Amino acid sequence: MTERLYYADSYAIQFSAKLVERLTYGDRPAVVLDRTCFYPTGGGQPHDLGRIAGVPVLDVVAREGDNAVVHVLMKALTVDEAVCEVDWARRFDHMQQHTGQHILTQAFVRVCGAGTVGFHLSADTVTIDLDQGGLSAAQIAAAEDLANQIVFEARSVTTRIVDPQAADGVRMRRLPDTLVTGGLRVVEVADFDVTACGGTHVRSTGEIGIIKVVKTEKRGDKLRVEFKCGGRALRDYRVKSDVLGQIAGALNAHFSEADVAVAKLQEDYRSAARSLKAAVSQLVEYEAASLISETALENGRRLIIRVYNQRDPAELKLLAQRLSAADGVVALLASAGDKAQLIFARSADRAEDMNVLLKRALTQLGDARGGGQPNIAQGGGVPADEAAIRRALEGAAMQRG
Ligand SMILES: [Zn+2]
Repeated sequence: MTERLYYADSYAIQFSAKLVERLTYGDRPAVVLDRTCFYPTGGGQPHDLGRIAGVPVLDVVAREGDNAVVHVLMKALTVDEAVCEVDWARRFDHMQQHTGQHILTQAFVRVCGAGTVGFHLSADTVTIDLDQGGLSAAQIAAAEDLANQIVFEARSVTTRIVDPQAADGVRMRRLPDTLVTGGLRVVEVADFDVTACGGTHVRSTGEIGIIKVVKTEKRGDKLRVEFKCGGRALRDYRVKSDVLGQIAGALNAHFSEADVAVAKLQEDYRSAARSLKAAVSQLVEYEAASLISETALENGRRLIIRVYNQRDPAELKLLAQRLSAADGVVALLASAGDKAQLIFARSADRAEDMNVLLKRALTQLGDARGGGQPNIAQGGGVPADEAAIRRALEGAAMQRG
């Protein structure tokens, strides 16, 4: 069985060890050492990275059955003894997040009696799942405050092995690593929390720097709390400060009033959109009247054919409706462009079938599709220029039947 050096000292990252087994794990070469500082994935905490005899370590797993720590490598090792080094930045990040989790978990117990039933730590996120789904923002803030008070007091964090039979008062979700350590390994934040845990932790809560809840999400009767500690909290703060600063700058507002400024901007936009719609409607009304007055009445019918370049389809439809509200009108309207739009409409006193006329015009435009009612029909969707569409509309209007 591998001697796990990180149990005694999570700050030790350089060590030498003997290779006791060479194997293949997945498709990769792997080794078991007689002793290791490498933490294998487990207890919600990801594995360490680093190098063994200069060869990058890709994965570290505890083997089922004998609990040997298997180091998966970029390439096979030929040496029998190796100098090894754990990637400290990654290790320390995990120590900050993991110790922060112990403290936040205990803070939720003390503030509102909420227990932690799940813990997940990945490269991007750290979460705990609480057994109370309905915590208020004030309760979450109170737990966050208590957790940070424990950080600011720079309390000692120690580990020891205890007899599992005498582990009253130790917070644990399951019995971890008893096989490996010959007892129950507990992690104690002085006068605050004692938890059974096999992970890596900082020695003083002050090293966590800060614990910040960034998001909560109700999941059934559970509450998922996402948080960031130390370096992660700093980077998160930096990004949010930058982005919020830019938003506030663009809004010409103080950052604390950016949300109010955005809400006002949204209301201004909605109001402007309403005004624009009303203005366009009025304009189309005038346009329709003008088109009707300039089109001669022939045998009781005003045939209005107009092709526009990339005109808004909604506006085109509005124009067709306005035109057909008058008597004796047959309006064949279109917008040219990458997706040509055709809309045909007639007055209630006309008998022409717009569906029939539209089909005739669409046939001339290739793959275009459409349909509608006898009094109004629309289609298009294919690229067509103004001249081609005009020919199609005039051709459809000329035919009888
Ligand atoms: Zn832990």
